[in-house]
Amino acid sequence: MSGCNEAVEYVYQYIDDELTTTRKARIKWHLKRCGHCMDAFTFETELKERIASGGKTEPGPELFDSLRALLQQERKNEDPDC
Ligand SMILES: [Zn+2]
Repeated sequence: MSGCNEAVEYVYQYIDDELTTTRKARIKWHLKRCGHCMDAFTFETELKERIASGGKTEPGPELFDSLRALLQQERKNEDPDC
């Protein structure tokens, strides 16, 4: 039920591999069954890779906020069990 919140909350730590094994498994499990969060995860991963490969622009907190807003908006439109 609250999997989306958790996945969004920890997406950065997940990408950076800073989570405990248990939490990582929970996020991974959620990403598998939730397309919205998987999209967000893919987006963040690609963004991070782009930055790591020489990009000069750092993602600000606004980006994270808009991503979160987008996710919440999509959740309203679809699967309430997400
Ligand atoms: Zn989700």
